Amino acid sequence: MFKALAVHWSAKFSALKATMTDSCIFCKVINNEAKATVVYRDDQVTAFRDLHPVGPVHILIVPNKHIQSVNEMEEGDKSLVGHMVFTAKKIAAQEHIAEDGYRLIMNTGPNGGQTVFHMHLHLIGGDRMKHPMG
Ligand code: AMP
Ligand code: ZN
Repeated sequence: MFKALAVHWSAKFSALKATMTDSCIFCKVINNEAKATVVYRDDQVTAFRDLHPVGPVHILIVPNKHIQSVNEMEEGDKSLVGHMVFTAKKIAAQEHIAEDGYRLIMNTGPNGGQTVFHMHLHLIGGDRMKHPMG
């Protein structure tokens, strides 16, 4: 009985978190309620410069729809994520880092180092990455 209730409330809480955009800083950037240097925008994604860049170019590609992380991605979001990667490729060319290369990162959850719980793709380049994986 307790377990059933716990599962029920956990599912409800997850659904709530998935649509909870009021306090999300990236939703605010997307809705022009918070300042950011936006470099690209279309009906599916917004891309803006990271506030604390770890390389000469550090841009975040963010879906306009609030999805907490890769864990909350649904079947129907597959093409959206493809669009995020394709957008990263186009921005890399625009920023003149395509030829020398760059890194794309999607941190997921605490062990992945995710700090903002609105799914995003980091595009980092302009210098040789100092760390291998991990
Ligand atoms: P992650 O740790 O993968 O969740 O990445 C979150 C990133 O968002 C970090 O690199 C932060 O520097 C960046 N960030 C947080 N707030 C803002 C903001 N208001 N504008 C731009 N970048 C931000
Ligand atoms: Zn959000």
